[in-house]
Amino acid sequence: MVPIGDFDPEMVAAIGRAIERLFRAAVRVEPILTELAFAFDPERRQYLSTAILGALAASAPADAYKVIALVRVDLFIPILTFVYGEAQMGGGACVLSTFRLHSGPGAGGEEGVVRAVKEALHELGHTFRLRHCPDPACLMHYCRSEADVDRKSSDLCRYCRVLLDDELRKPAAR
Ligand SMILES: [Zn+2]
Ligand SMILES: [Zn+2]
Repeated sequence: MVPIGDFDPEMVAAIGRAIERLFRAAVRVEPILTELAFAFDPERRQYLSTAILGALAASAPADAYKVIALVRVDLFIPILTFVYGEAQMGGGACVLSTFRLHSGPGAGGEEGVVRAVKEALHELGHTFRLRHCPDPACLMHYCRSEADVDRKSSDLCRYCRVLLDDELRKPAAR
């Protein structure tokens, strides 16, 4: 995990525990990337998530199976107004932003942590080749709003769990 910016250690720890539970993997925090100016788009005043993924993948430690950056800035990809995160499908890197997960009810409190946990697991799920799931309660459901995020659980549906278990049984390769 690569937290970039001022993160509540409680949130980082909560995300780490959730990753260990869902993916049955050991998590460590390492500051392989510390600034994001290279990804800033002055016209949109947002950060290009794809650029962050590239930098992450390029600086990932050799023994890291997957890397996830946690950022507080507003992320975008060219075709969308914003994204909560982005992942390399079946690849080694993903990024999650908490920028838009803290507004509305429960801002900054426990609700914000729960949302960040769900969306972090969702992005990591993509790196394990999981695609978007039509089940609104499944972690892999694509969410466009905080209400969507609140509606889904912190777990995979049975179908996505089977797909993940298949992926986890494959030899580790990034
Ligand atoms: Zn997704
Ligand atoms: Zn599912």
